Amino acid sequence: MSVTVLDRGAAPVLDRLRRPLRDLRISVTDRCNFRCVYCMPKEIFGRDYAFLPREQLLSFEEITRLARVAVANGVEKIRLTGGEPLLRKGIEELIRMLAALRTPSGAAIDLALTTNGSALAHLAPALAEAGLDRVTVSLDSLDDATFQAMNDVRFPVGRVLEGIDAAAAVGLGPVKINMVVKRGYNDHDIVSMARHFKGTGHILRFIEFMDVGSTNGWRLDEVVPSDEVIARIAAELPLEPIAANYPGEVAGRYRYRDGGGEIGVISSVTHAFCGACTRARVSVEGQLFTCLFATRGHDLRALMRGGGTDDELAEALTGVWRSRDDHYSQTRSAHTAIPDASARERRVEMSYIGG
Ligand code: SAM
Ligand code: SF4
Ligand code: SF4
Repeated sequence: MSVTVLDRGAAPVLDRLRRPLRDLRISVTDRCNFRCVYCMPKEIFGRDYAFLPREQLLSFEEITRLARVAVANGVEKIRLTGGEPLLRKGIEELIRMLAALRTPSGAAIDLALTTNGSALAHLAPALAEAGLDRVTVSLDSLDDATFQAMNDVRFPVGRVLEGIDAAAAVGLGPVKINMVVKRGYNDHDIVSMARHFKGTGHILRFIEFMDVGSTNGWRLDEVVPSDEVIARIAAELPLEPIAANYPGEVAGRYRYRDGGGEIGVISSVTHAFCGACTRARVSVEGQLFTCLFATRGHDLRALMRGGGTDDELAEALTGVWRSRDDHYSQTRSAHTAIPDASARERRVEMSYIGG
């Protein structure tokens, strides 16, 4: 067996803009029990929406195989997402399989999961026991009326907060909390969210509403720029910027001057961070995407199910990465200048590709 391709050792796999492959996001289901207005609007994802049949999804063995090849080629962090990843039956088993992977230098990988928190109170102990390192929980408001208007399925805030507590109690922290800010929907809650999570050890991150997919009716005037978010909080709770944890960290970091902890801002619209983007994504069906805003993926499932070897899989993965030159957020204005969203090329949905 040739090990030259699969086991590449320390040589980083660089794309055309010299960005290494470091992170892998894997979408484990296209289904979700929420219908967040910015992600899976009910008018599109209604009762008769055709989600993928089970046999189309990558199996846990296929996901692990793909992840193992990616880790042999530079990936150090894996994040499970969706749809809602905790809806995938037996997710703990997948976590156990992924947690056993080692980098070429023998280190464990960093294994995280992004969830809407609805099943976390119940599942957190099993996830931690299986080897998950951390969770990110999405929560857009502390006010039930606002939160329910955003998740659009009347899911109460209290159950998500219970999930956050359960995750922290079993060591899945520091828990990050993602708040997508949409002007006119939940921007009035920015400061109350900051106040609530200040001093808890959880890291609240404000995410600019993005123009992912082609169904969420994105409009620039509904984006609240991160600079405005920081200014609104700092007016009441003094803040100062802090350095990134590592090169390529997507969140801008700030801390409370009184020592109450830190917050983050993810400014994918107003401050593009494509230059440091080291992230590949695998869809539920095993399509490899090199950008959240891609219009097409590369079919790795066909290769695996067609009897491809690990070396062939590694060659496909690294070949796609090497030819990558995506930098959508840096050129967004050129795309969004087209007024009619339907005239934009059809982009893949966030729930399919994984956020
Ligand atoms: N269901 C899980 C959840 O909500 O955490 C995981 C999948 S979700 C697609 C991943 C993240 O993407 C969530 O934090 C969500 O808030 C964020 N997201 C979805 N649509 C977005 C949009 N249009 N703009 C910004 N963030 C978005
Ligand atoms: Fe579901 Fe997450 Fe999308 Fe909300 S953001 S609809 S919880 S996948
Ligand atoms: Fe990465 Fe694409 Fe987002 Fe730029 S737009 S940061 S390349 S995912």
